[in-house]
Amino acid sequence: MTSGGLQIAASGQTGPRYGDLTSAGHDREVDRCTAVLDDPVSSLKGVGPKFAQRLQRLGISSLRDVLFHRPIRYQNRCRIHTIDSLDHGAREIMICGQVMRCVEHGWKRKSLAVEFQDDTGSLWLRIFGDRSFRGPLFDTGTRLFCFGNVTRNREGRLEMVQPECVPVSGASSFAPGDTLTAVYPAAGGIRQNLLRSIVQQTLRKLEASLDGKSAYQRLVPAFAEVLPAAELRRLHMSSIDTAFFDLHFPVAGEAGTYEKAFKPASRRRLACEELLVHYLAARTVRRRGCHRQAAKVIPRGTLGQRFLSELPFSLTAGQQRAIDEIGNDLSAKHPMMRLLHGDVGCGKTVVAACAILRVIEAGMQAAVLAPTEVLSRQHYRVLREWFQPLGIRVECLTGGDEPAQRSGIRDDLAAGNIAVVVGTHALLQEAVHYHNLGLVVVDEQHRFGVEQRYALLDKGMNAGCAPHQLIISATPIPRTLAMTLYADLDLSVIDELPPGRKTVDTAIMPQRRRKDVLERICQMCRDGHQVYWVCTLIDRDSRVERQAAIDAATELAKQLPGLRIDLVHGRMATPEKDRILREFADGGIDVLVATTVIEVGVDAANAALMVIEDAERLGLSQLHQLRGRVGRSHHKSYCILLYRPPLTEQARQRLAALRGSSNGFELAQLDLDIRGSGEVFGTRQAGGSGFRFADVFLDEAFIDEVRRIGDRMLQEHRHQVPLVMRRWLGPAGEFAQV
Ligand code: ADP
Ligand code: MG
Repeated sequence: MTSGGLQIAASGQTGPRYGDLTSAGHDREVDRCTAVLDDPVSSLKGVGPKFAQRLQRLGISSLRDVLFHRPIRYQNRCRIHTIDSLDHGAREIMICGQVMRCVEHGWKRKSLAVEFQDDTGSLWLRIFGDRSFRGPLFDTGTRLFCFGNVTRNREGRLEMVQPECVPVSGASSFAPGDTLTAVYPAAGGIRQNLLRSIVQQTLRKLEASLDGKSAYQRLVPAFAEVLPAAELRRLHMSSIDTAFFDLHFPVAGEAGTYEKAFKPASRRRLACEELLVHYLAARTVRRRGCHRQAAKVIPRGTLGQRFLSELPFSLTAGQQRAIDEIGNDLSAKHPMMRLLHGDVGCGKTVVAACAILRVIEAGMQAAVLAPTEVLSRQHYRVLREWFQPLGIRVECLTGGDEPAQRSGIRDDLAAGNIAVVVGTHALLQEAVHYHNLGLVVVDEQHRFGVEQRYALLDKGMNAGCAPHQLIISATPIPRTLAMTLYADLDLSVIDELPPGRKTVDTAIMPQRRRKDVLERICQMCRDGHQVYWVCTLIDRDSRVERQAAIDAATELAKQLPGLRIDLVHGRMATPEKDRILREFADGGIDVLVATTVIEVGVDAANAALMVIEDAERLGLSQLHQLRGRVGRSHHKSYCILLYRPPLTEQARQRLAALRGSSNGFELAQLDLDIRGSGEVFGTRQAGGSGFRFADVFLDEAFIDEVRRIGDRMLQEHRHQVPLVMRRWLGPAGEFAQV
């Protein structure tokens, strides 16, 4: 497929012109144009209810989601290799030839050996599964395209094991074309070919809607160019349509991972626009916030003092400063919109608690939102422990609870009998009513979720007043970045850790020293401490990750007989996860085997050793976050980074950096420097930030441009704002109406 006919950007225009439309007419136009992107996937050929459901699990429900679905890799199927050019180890090879004969093997798992020949030679295809399943595909004489890896078996015979095979007749989406073939993250048994087909259909549909006669019809937001051509040239960026085609059907180029093979100019374009949309959204939210009224929170009680005097420590200067800044905001007549930013362990929760108490003293309620249920349980436990002695009722509302319990909590919230409610962001969507909501604390962790802040301004309204908002984040990002990504927020930074915090001694060890590690674990547990054993993400599919954790737990139980070992992973039901984490926090478990679900916020002060298996797979920031789970008290704590040799040079640098520093900000910068030297790794680089294409570190240099482009658009091309926001956010972007 080519991008013929999509020349809007190249024509030298400065983007679509809506100048002669009235505002209402313009809104309608944007609505109508966006409609295609909002179409459900079920409008595509071959997508029935069952398939649609599976796609939903991948986060795909509209054509917009399809358009933005990011491949993990690209394969080169453009070139057909001759069999005589192949040898053991050749990977991702396309051949074309003819079936000579097919032999069935009656092993336990039936398999077929197919002799396959082209003009230059022959090899064997090994196919698992029985013949009836394959139909006439392997009948003698059938011409096939086969795509797979080449090996030489023990008898020296060249084989392709379990290749993808498609008959030459009828191989439409499979046949070698002039583009690389995208491989998408898939789960739940969705075949790549089906995914490719829906991507192809989607792009065709969007392309087709460009051919309309009316000038406006041509400006379908899917591909409407909003950046001036000169800007694109200056910043070495593709036009938006080219960027999307490059994403899914890159013309020529080298095969490889998304990070390596996705064209830089196109990646930059998508990243730029994604950051731009985020910035525009933040600016919009800021403006809205300034026009909203909020209840003035005037401190009148002594709750705050009582709380602080009960704490076994005194506040750091950074904490005190943040509390003062928050206090000022709360007493203003517009809603506070403040970011509390600081490294893991700097004590942000105490600051949030002080803000909550102030609001409660003023007779209002507070809600605390966390990104996951595990985390919301965690906050709930901490706050309950602090607040119960003060006679304050705290409740937790999550999806895992009994319906009866949930509705009881809701009633009490509406009646004002609950002062603080903790939950996930679902608290926003559900029909939860408050008696008098004065403050929302949002624990963002790694997301940059501006939409929620808008939803809060709108939905949290109470007697004409919007609730105050306190956003908490530990994402270590440079200040210029923070100012753009959080353009809607005022900033409070806690730049110091509580005194007396010991650094976590970090060691790097190869797998063959596992025995030493096990001994170390025994010793820690004998000394009355607890241990985390973290299995890193090896697959986007959490089922695979779970299996790795289960295997590790089973093995550890065998190797460490006297110890109480348990397991927690992301696919467990929340009450179960919760129970185990609580048991660990209470000292009932010695070694907790976990997937990276514990990365954020889990707090067990007695845990003094963390072992991270296959640590070389993770990025520095993620390792830092994980390690932050230990060393949260006065105990000396340790972290062991287990790796499987050989280490790449960059992986070695990464692990060494982590050993050498405990400063999240410094590590983030080092991460960038190391990555700048070439290697790109892992599947979660940009992941976790909530961005699909932007990498807040990689794109740091670029962020000033985004800000400038955004400011200019707001001043001179305001009509484009909703257009570009709808492209990315869909109906959720409707708040962009300016
Ligand atoms: P984070 O900023 O990562 O959310 P927390 O608020 O969870 O950090 O605090 C980490 C730990 O440090 C908690 O156990 C908390 O009780 C403790 N803590 C917070 N503030 C101080 C302080 N000023 N002095 C000593 N310990 C503190
Ligand atoms: Mg925290």
